[in-house]
Amino acid sequence: MNEESKQSLEWLFRRMTDNKVTKTISVSCLQFDDTGKGKIVDLFANWADIIACSTGSDNVGHTVVCNGKSRVFYLIPASIIYDANNKYNVIGSGTVLYPKTLVDEIAFLHTEGLTTKHLRIALNAKLIMPYHIVLDCLSAADKVIDIAGKGMESAYVDFIARRGLVVNDLLNPEIFRIKLEKSIKQANLLLRDFDREMIKEVLFQSSLENGFYYHEPTDETDHCFFELDNIIAKYCQYGQVLAPYITDTDTFLRRKLGKKNILLEGTQGSLLDIDYGVYPYVTSNNWTLAGLAKGVGLKESDIDISFGIIKGFYMTRVGAGPLPTELGGEASAAWCNGNGSREQEAMMTDLCFNKTDEFKQGVLIRRRGEEYDVITGQPRRVAWLDLPLLRVALETGAKNIILTKLDVLTGVEKIKICDVYRYEGPDYYYGKKKLKKGSILRKAIVIPEVLKYCVPIYHEFAGWEEDIREIKYFNNLPANLMEIFIFLFEKINALPWIISTGPDRKNTIFL
Ligand code: GDP
Ligand code: MG
Repeated sequence: MNEESKQSLEWLFRRMTDNKVTKTISVSCLQFDDTGKGKIVDLFANWADIIACSTGSDNVGHTVVCNGKSRVFYLIPASIIYDANNKYNVIGSGTVLYPKTLVDEIAFLHTEGLTTKHLRIALNAKLIMPYHIVLDCLSAADKVIDIAGKGMESAYVDFIARRGLVVNDLLNPEIFRIKLEKSIKQANLLLRDFDREMIKEVLFQSSLENGFYYHEPTDETDHCFFELDNIIAKYCQYGQVLAPYITDTDTFLRRKLGKKNILLEGTQGSLLDIDYGVYPYVTSNNWTLAGLAKGVGLKESDIDISFGIIKGFYMTRVGAGPLPTELGGEASAAWCNGNGSREQEAMMTDLCFNKTDEFKQGVLIRRRGEEYDVITGQPRRVAWLDLPLLRVALETGAKNIILTKLDVLTGVEKIKICDVYRYEGPDYYYGKKKLKKGSILRKAIVIPEVLKYCVPIYHEFAGWEEDIREIKYFNNLPANLMEIFIFLFEKINALPWIISTGPDRKNTIFL
């Protein structure tokens, strides 16, 4: 363990809290995910005794770079690499998980020589069942938001409809069977509308055990698609592998509160929150501070310091949804959500940071920042930093800013930041307020029907040329960059505390 960086974090926390003792912190993203959280969590993992993921599922991969080596994990927190240092990794009750993913990841870690002795899995985390994956895969085309076909959407639906299964059921086969019978009825009913061959095809994927769960109908009246006994057998087998890790993590964390250093990790972004994000272009999860705390059995007030990450003066989002400051606007959205690919972008040769063509500039930022979905490789839509949206995120999310990926914009001639929107749509009633053409919005109204008519009003800044990756002190950052900083933090009334200027741990500046 790096004592020096642990100490610099403790000093930072003391400065932030007027010398109070800090025991519980949280890290989350104030944009649409993918702000380089992995690196930051890794940094804080140095300080933490317990690292807990409170919400999320295996549709998001996280990357950690240490000593130039990078790894992608899905369910297991990236900080598992510190298991041997007696750090607990907790998969909290707010998560939904597919046991196979977890079992495979644990097996992978063991073959890599890593231990998982301090891994804890919430007994009340929600289970993704084979039919959830089938339903997600088959209904993806009808959904407003891209779903990864990993089953989490349907698993949440079942949970909210009170027919879901939880991790602890894996340990009690008879109860598992009773709950499964109830839950699977609804799945079979929903799947009747689909072609059996399509269902079969999905069920023969390797992630679904190559057809092991598929039920061949006995006659025309047989509308069942799944072998119940096979699901029970396989899941309970996984339950046995996971048994050493399954525990009441809510109580575990409550007991450790104030005694151990706890880091809460939010895997996605505030603007993707089901209640406060740009609904319906959101996830099924809560990414606010309250959501992060609840997902591990804690309260928002239990968090001593909340960190929120934004990218150094840009944003990205994967998939559909309004994004007023997108570089290249609709053309970019169509490209990223259509046929655009990393391979094609790698071949583009006429890209340049000082062109007025924002679409191409967006491609260059995407390439430089490696803004491609970790799982699908899909290009992430690139947008200028949008303060009206950030103000929304700051209200329900973290208060202390971490800026990442600042090196990505090095060499960009002009950097734009959107301070306010001008509404250009038809009259719109927002409660008692009436939006008219020309209305100015300082804080975004996160309703797609409003956002799509919002025209960003920008402040333009001259960029910087200097390589900033090796800079150690804030005051040594280029003057042009400082000017943007001052503008930004005055406008959002929040303070930055950590700046990331490169993927490596050493490319970090503490304020
Ligand atoms: P996450 O989901 O929030 O962890 O973010 P991503 O999925 O986008 O992954 C983060 C990627 O960005 C990883 O490949 C990191 O190595 C990289 N990264 C993190 N911080 C920085 C930074 O400051 N500069 C650059 N260039 N890359 C970074
Ligand atoms: Mg990510």
